[in-house]
Amino acid sequence: MSLFEEERPRQGIGKTEWEAIKKIHNNKCVLCGRTDKQAGGLEKAHLKAYSRGGSHVVPMCAICHKKFDSGQLTVTQIKKLGLTPTSYKRLIPKKKRPNNSWW
Ligand SMILES: [Zn+2]
Repeated sequence: MSLFEEERPRQGIGKTEWEAIKKIHNNKCVLCGRTDKQAGGLEKAHLKAYSRGGSHVVPMCAICHKKFDSGQLTVTQIKKLGLTPTSYKRLIPKKKRPNNSWW
């Protein structure tokens, strides 16, 4: 499941590209460090780099991906992704943003 699935067409990243991306990240979740095996398969998390006008994909385990999508990441985790709280906020679909959160 991709973050923007409902809003725009699927981003076409091929199997080869995905394998290469996972390799860059040592086949681990970028947030908690679970390996592909430990996580039972890593998922594609789409990060949109507003400053550079592009987006890229990073591997995340299902647990972290869910937190990412529902806006539950901590500031430390956001920084690990190379994001700022402001840019992260813009990545989350409005309807999924929790109420009374830290922003
Ligand atoms: Zn994780």
